[in-house]
Amino acid sequence: MDDLTPRKRPSPLPVTARCERCGESWTTSSELDAHMETEIAELLRLGNPIAGIRNLQAITDISLKDAKSIYYHVTQENGRCHHCSARLDGKRVTLCESCSCLNYDW
Ligand SMILES: [Zn+2]
Ligand SMILES: [Zn+2]
Repeated sequence: MDDLTPRKRPSPLPVTARCERCGESWTTSSELDAHMETEIAELLRLGNPIAGIRNLQAITDISLKDAKSIYYHVTQENGRCHHCSARLDGKRVTLCESCSCLNYDW
């Protein structure tokens, strides 16, 4: 048993996301887990998007431009579209049925 060997992190997979409403596409990272996502969304909702973007860049190799795009699509209120405030379906990444905007409902 070699429990002392540091566990190697799996190399991150780039994930491409695209929003139908604004036509933007960006790259996110498979390194993001639910815990990180929640932390980042909390910073946004507390009115501190700069800290959230820094966090995102500290834990992944997402570019500043991509981090901003991700940030822009995080819901301000859980379960509500960030663009038109319509009810979302409860998935963590979802498309709004009213405006087709991608939402990160973290
Ligand atoms: Zn969009
Ligand atoms: Zn919407």
